[in-house]
Amino acid sequence: MARVNTIENNQLIFLGTGGGRFTVFNQIRKSGGIWFKLNDKLFAIDPGPGALVEAIKHKLYPNRLSGIFLSHRHLDHCADINSVIESMTEGGHKKRGTVLAPYEATEIDPVILRYNRKNFTLINQKEFSTYEVDGVKIETKAKHLHTTETYGAVFSFNNYSFAFIPDTLYFDELPKIYRADIVIMNTVFHHKRAGFKHLSSDDVYIFLEQFKPKKLIITHFGLSFLRDKPWDVAKKISSETGCDVVAAYDGMVVDL
Ligand SMILES: [Zn+2]
Repeated sequence: MARVNTIENNQLIFLGTGGGRFTVFNQIRKSGGIWFKLNDKLFAIDPGPGALVEAIKHKLYPNRLSGIFLSHRHLDHCADINSVIESMTEGGHKKRGTVLAPYEATEIDPVILRYNRKNFTLINQKEFSTYEVDGVKIETKAKHLHTTETYGAVFSFNNYSFAFIPDTLYFDELPKIYRADIVIMNTVFHHKRAGFKHLSSDDVYIFLEQFKPKKLIITHFGLSFLRDKPWDVAKKISSETGCDVVAAYDGMVVDL
């Protein structure tokens, strides 16, 4: 049987690296989100389709979760959030966990069912706000330029931190606000496409001109980017910029 990765404290794992409708809804790449452990606490970011199954496969049990961070209400990011919440709260029998989600995702066109909301703490993120969940600091930044209310964050505990930049059109503040040793960028496209509010690998160059983290990880690949081999694109960006840029793959574990 193939070995399945799990994570220790101060590590994160990509339970999915697919982005966009074709990749995710044909499961060309998985879409279980990014799960991490800081301060020995387990967190999940953007539990998309298959998150519950992938998590358990990787021995990450939602009834150990301290929190869930939802960047926005698009299905490739949130489709499994209710399943993960149900598992986190043991079918509603345990009050457990904090869910951070945009107002639009809970009140305007809710993607989090109301019946179980009494069993966890729900926070609607605001711009430039700091939250603490079980000792882990979660700092939101500017509201993203996307088609629904969207936030990224810098997650940290002691000297360990990483920045997560979910879906957005590129804007100049990105390299000023998302500063951490490890930066994760949702680059759906290889090249910028007019009319789409998504990042591309072209934007990685612009970002790196302003700020070079120790490691920049691209993920959330659309189908056309996958055809262009994001691992080769990452290598090219690395050699041209001198920054360690890597393309995430399903099951990839990263030390924080
Ligand atoms: Zn989106």
